[in-house]
Amino acid sequence: MKRNATQEEIDGVAARIESMGLKAHVIPGALRTAIGITGNTGPVDPSTIEMMPGVREVIRVTKPYKLVSREMKHEDTVIRVGGATIGGGGLVVAAGPCAVESESQAFAVAEKVKAAGAHLFRGGAFKPRTSPYSFQGLGIEGLKILARIRDTFDLPVVTEAIDVESVGPVEQYADVIQVGARNMQNFSLLKRVGRSGRPVLLKRGMSATVEELLMSAEYILSEGNYQVILCERGVRTFSDHTRNTLDLSAVPAVKELTHLPILVDPSHGTGRRDKVLPMALAGIAAGADGLLVEVHTDPEKALSDGPQSLYPEQFAALMEGLGRLAQALERPLK
Ligand code: PEP
Ligand code: MN
Repeated sequence: MKRNATQEEIDGVAARIESMGLKAHVIPGALRTAIGITGNTGPVDPSTIEMMPGVREVIRVTKPYKLVSREMKHEDTVIRVGGATIGGGGLVVAAGPCAVESESQAFAVAEKVKAAGAHLFRGGAFKPRTSPYSFQGLGIEGLKILARIRDTFDLPVVTEAIDVESVGPVEQYADVIQVGARNMQNFSLLKRVGRSGRPVLLKRGMSATVEELLMSAEYILSEGNYQVILCERGVRTFSDHTRNTLDLSAVPAVKELTHLPILVDPSHGTGRRDKVLPMALAGIAAGADGLLVEVHTDPEKALSDGPQSLYPEQFAALMEGLGRLAQALERPLK
């Protein structure tokens, strides 16, 4: 739509699209509103829409993913969660332990990451573990602890929904729903979070291409939830000096193809705390919108992902380094 298109003109175009038996996705931006069209089985004749008041141009999206593509919406998507802003040029950091293990553990980590300048708190209440005998998370009790952390520290919270059943409780207690790497192609889960009012943090599957990641995001947008944050967390390769191979070239690739923001997760991406700082800075230098970092006050005793969890002092050092990098890049660390 044109920059100065009125609400009436936007509604009129959406209604025209719906009257053609298609679905209209009205996606507002800072400068202009984009209206995506899905539900067509072949090309849509642009002529009837092109002539409508307020319409700037009708663009045929050439990519298999439609609503997530930059062709459809040129402007960066900006997602606001509590006081945090994700996308649109600024940098954001989500930090916390891999899992919420107890109230005292989660609060201790929250206090440290808040003091160091984190913008969001992230901790798992439902954990997708390789072994059924490993700690599976505190479930609802963990979600309640997260909600108390939000209230105490004024930090929006991110936590994972591991299946369709856990989405309801997660959206009730948390601010952002994480979909983990193992679930990137759990299509019923993607459709369910697509009907949620909460933003979704979608992690790249460990053997997924960038196109597959974007197709998974498309599932969420196609259901009407346009608030999706992507996350590069490493893929599996032959290299064994790190847990995964953090694919940082995915960041500029994703930035070119989609308007959605992308975070880098150097914790799962490397699996080793001594590699987290350099790869975090590299991720931002590559153009990511922020970071997702695991931190623990006592990583030796962590119930999951201890070896990659930073000590609070290391996290504080990371935030300092990030501050200097943000200045050099002229990107505000909000
Ligand atoms: C996590 O974020 O703790 C996690 C399980 O990550 P991933 O899904 O990327 O493995
Ligand atoms: Mn983890």
